[in-house]
Amino acid sequence: SVYDRRIEFDLDDGVVFNGVGFKTNEVSATFVVLCRDEELYEMLDTIQNIEDRFNHAYGYDYVFLNDKQFSRRFMEHVVSLVNKNSRISFGKVPRHHWLYPETIDIEFAHQQRSKMEAMGVLYGGSESYRHMCRYFSGFFYKHPLVQDYQYYWRLEPGTKVLCDVQYDIFVHMLNNKKKYGFVISLFEYRATIPTLWSHFRDFLSLHPELKSLGMLPFVENDDVARSYNLCHFWSNLEIADFSLFRNPVYEQFFEHLEAQGGFFYERWGDAPVHTLAVSMLLEPSEVWFIDDLGYSHEPYTMCPKQLDSHLTNRCVCDLPWNLLILISAFIGSFAAQNIALDFEILRLVLS
Ligand code: GDP
Ligand code: MN
Repeated sequence: SVYDRRIEFDLDDGVVFNGVGFKTNEVSATFVVLCRDEELYEMLDTIQNIEDRFNHAYGYDYVFLNDKQFSRRFMEHVVSLVNKNSRISFGKVPRHHWLYPETIDIEFAHQQRSKMEAMGVLYGGSESYRHMCRYFSGFFYKHPLVQDYQYYWRLEPGTKVLCDVQYDIFVHMLNNKKKYGFVISLFEYRATIPTLWSHFRDFLSLHPELKSLGMLPFVENDDVARSYNLCHFWSNLEIADFSLFRNPVYEQFFEHLEAQGGFFYERWGDAPVHTLAVSMLLEPSEVWFIDDLGYSHEPYTMCPKQLDSHLTNRCVCDLPWNLLILISAFIGSFAAQNIALDFEILRLVLS
């Protein structure tokens, strides 16, 4: 049984299955997953993929978080798939990280959800989605089970990496001084963030000491209005340094946003929140467009464009098809949101 291979601890913060081998990893890093017990089979699919494509050679750890308790069944199935050197932790989100903060008018939040649902906004009517986005904006990096790690790779059930990763991606982050890695960037739905940008601008003007604004052109329209161009890193896969979030400026930024109520009265996603933080706190050289991984999360796929690496890394994606989807996505957002595509900005970030 899985127990033969594991030393198991029941801690206040969750259940920990210790690895059995000696680790030789140069950096301390973990996969982080927030998911629900019902998502077990999508989760197993994703873990098997990540293990086969990457982690079988490294034995990095996993931390699974949930607002409810994980079942024994969930934990055992997950443990059975993972590298035996990995430590696998299953934790519960602290109640006060998931519940409404006291400042929120719950009745008003409910009305706003109904309105957004009627407008047809994606997840506009969902309460749990808002808790999830707020959790990834201000809390996941505070969970006791992730405190000992410097880097994380966020994973979601149902997603897949499409090529082998034949190098240690976390050591690459360290050696190249990368703090935030992404695979896909997209336009955010304007209706989910009507006031986010103005609160971001307010925060910037309250903090003239912020000097590292080299990524600002990625998010800011190059016009008189200096409005948000809606670009954001798709945060369902991110490989990042926890220090981006574990610092006083980010904490003040989160509290500034939290005080506006927009996680509940609007539907602020963690993706635009993380992206604005990156644009405010990192230099372009610290941001990494991970272009050799290949990644799929419905409805989008990212396929590496270096065709020779398709063979050496055993990629399973079709470039022309992927380009077609990308182009139609661009045209779609262009038409829907009526914004100018700034190729200079894209080139800046993708180079
Ligand atoms: P989408 O990618 O924006 O469509 O959002 P998802 O539904 O995939 O949710 C993002 C991540 O948060 C996934 O890993 C989900 O499993 C997880 N998630 C979303 N809502 C909840 C929730 O209410 N409880 C828990 N435990 N996980 C959630
Ligand atoms: Mn998802």
